[in-house]
Amino acid sequence: MRLERLANRAPAAPALHGHSEADVVIIGAGYTGFAAASAWQQARPEDRIKILEADRVGEGSPGRNSGFMLEIALANDARPEELERMEKLNALSRQTMALLRERVERFGIDCQLERSGTYRAARSAIGQRALNQYEAFLKAAGLSYQRLNGSQLAERIGTRYYTQGIYSPDCYLVQPAALIVGLADSLEAGIELHEHSPATQIVPDGKKWRVTTPEGEVTAGQVILANNAFSRALGADPSRLTAIYTYAAITEPLPEPERQRIAATTWGCSPHTA
Ligand SMILES: Cc1cc2nc3c(=O)[nH]c(=O)nc-3n(C[C@H](O)[C@H](O)[C@H](O)COP(=O)(O)OP(=O)(O)OC[C@H]3O[C@@H](n4cnc5c(N)ncnc54)[C@H](O)[C@@H]3O)c2cc1C
Repeated sequence: MRLERLANRAPAAPALHGHSEADVVIIGAGYTGFAAASAWQQARPEDRIKILEADRVGEGSPGRNSGFMLEIALANDARPEELERMEKLNALSRQTMALLRERVERFGIDCQLERSGTYRAARSAIGQRALNQYEAFLKAAGLSYQRLNGSQLAERIGTRYYTQGIYSPDCYLVQPAALIVGLADSLEAGIELHEHSPATQIVPDGKKWRVTTPEGEVTAGQVILANNAFSRALGADPSRLTAIYTYAAITEPLPEPERQRIAATTWGCSPHTA
């Protein structure tokens, strides 16, 4: 599905042309790139900040993910014996969500952000073991949740496929394309976004760095790599990075009677090894 159908977007920000200077260049206009730009701007409001985006904002995973914004650790990470570390991570996630929600409200970003919680559901023995492991973590961490049997789950999400589930309230759901586009449209003055400007090379230039794109180059004292695993192509430690591709499918919105039947409230569910 084309990005225009997922989020209203102003015309593309201009690509980088010719030579320019900045104090900091951020490579990648995803959540990390925008968060880095805002934090930098708050710390050093006079600095010239440039963000380079290879494509259009939202075309990649920032706009095409499943929209679960968890405030607590993921199931696979959630080992009860590492509770102290988990609690620190959970506190950071909550803080991030509070900042994001504040921004969404301040700029009126229409992205269906809602603290709907999340369902995890399983059918197979492996899936049920994973659910049990997650439940052990939730219990040990004193986090609230509801364990649901197949019928209770079916009442909430309209399918009898799963036999067990857990509902956790500590999660927001969002329409990710609308969120990332809203973040791009609400960048503070002093932050300059260039779309269609993939960084192809970063080389030292005296005491600075020179970042090259197909049509331009920018020299800056600092460069922040915010392009996820693609930073490997720009020289970030290749022994620690590999790109993993995952895919999500979306459908047309459900017809209203069907939506009322299975989705009178907003919910999201991730299967645990089904
Ligand atoms: C199908 C799918 C479903 C997912 N579901 C969820 C979910 O429900 N909840 C969740 O929390 N996470 C989910 N994720 C993961 C989530 O999308 C990522 O963790 C998140 O987008 C990472 O943000 P980021 O800003 O660090 O990097 P990215 O989102 O990868 O953004 C990096 C940006 O850098 C740009 N870029 C790349 N190379 C260059 C270059 N050379 N020059 C300039 N720009 C460049 C890219 O175009 C991109 O815009 C999902 C991912 C996928 C693929």
